[in-house]
Amino acid sequence: MFDVIIVGGSYAGMSAALPLARARRSVAIVDAGERRNRFARSSHGFLGRDGHAPEAIAREALQQLLAYPTVTWLEGHATTASGEIDGFEITLADGRRLAGRRVVIACGVADILPEIPGLAAHWGVGAMACPYCHGYELERGRIGVLATSPMALHQAMMLPEWGTTTLLANGAVVPDAPEMAELERRGVAIEPVTVAEIGGEAGAPVAILRDGRHLAFDGLFVTPRTRIASTIPEQLGCALKDAPLGPMIVTDDTRQTTVPGVFACGDVVRPVASVALAVGDGAFAGTATHRSLIFETATQPRAA
Ligand code: FAD
Ligand code: MG
Repeated sequence: MFDVIIVGGSYAGMSAALPLARARRSVAIVDAGERRNRFARSSHGFLGRDGHAPEAIAREALQQLLAYPTVTWLEGHATTASGEIDGFEITLADGRRLAGRRVVIACGVADILPEIPGLAAHWGVGAMACPYCHGYELERGRIGVLATSPMALHQAMMLPEWGTTTLLANGAVVPDAPEMAELERRGVAIEPVTVAEIGGEAGAPVAILRDGRHLAFDGLFVTPRTRIASTIPEQLGCALKDAPLGPMIVTDDTRQTTVPGVFACGDVVRPVASVALAVGDGAFAGTATHRSLIFETATQPRAA
């Protein structure tokens, strides 16, 4: 019986593990190794690690974590979960079974890219979601905002901060007259013709339009919808809520989900995603989980 089982051992999950390890609690971390930013070569905006490879940040964190004797690291996929506070069970795809008194869900979300041929090959290098993460490196160059929903309008209005911006409306957004005026005021060009394909080399995406024109960019911004990367939260009965880009797990202000003894942190609870926020969130969830171990027990007696 572990004190805590953590599902997802990326930035949020490892950060949750650290205070628990430092309180000498037994922690099992299950991780399938599919960090959301694994498509990117460098990670920006995380204090002290600005510009480092996403993998390098995670590797160093894991080395530091594994120095604590109460931490158990399991590579693999958690597939089933059941139980209640003080008696959860998690099963891995390979059949390994874990028992734990608390669960922390840090499984992250997966991006659902629009089905535009060629786009996936650029994801993380020439095509990205977050200007704060990757806008600076475009050196105030040519930026395309590839619209997949009306939210692209907002992104298109921000991106002139980082370079010369074209809104590829792509049938997903039809600005009204005041919005057109605002885009114009900010110097945003609007391309109404549908995007048929994304071509070009890594880091130099080219939008190939339905009418055959090629528009070359230094970077493309896309805001994909997301899905929760695991069914574990639903299996445990955690309530979900609709956020603008996809479902998130509901938590209270201690990061406890609607299921007593189950906590959640990172991208799976917050629509605004970054390594810094995931790490902060994880640290918070880890300490809250520790306090739950100290102060809370099962409200109902468990069967033997
Ligand atoms: P994740 O990092 O996504 O990790 C979730 C982990 O849980 C994964 O390892 C996954 O395999 C594991 N997991 C899921 N389900 C299971 C299961 N059932 N069993 C076992 N393990 C499971 N942020 C920045 O701050 N700077 C950047 O430069 C930056 N660049 C980005 C570039 C791209 C292309 C993308 C998509 C995102 C970028 N981000 C960046 C955002 C950043 O990646 C996320 O905010 C961050 O990864 C969230 O951390 P997390 O721990 O919540 O989830
Ligand atoms: Mg994590």
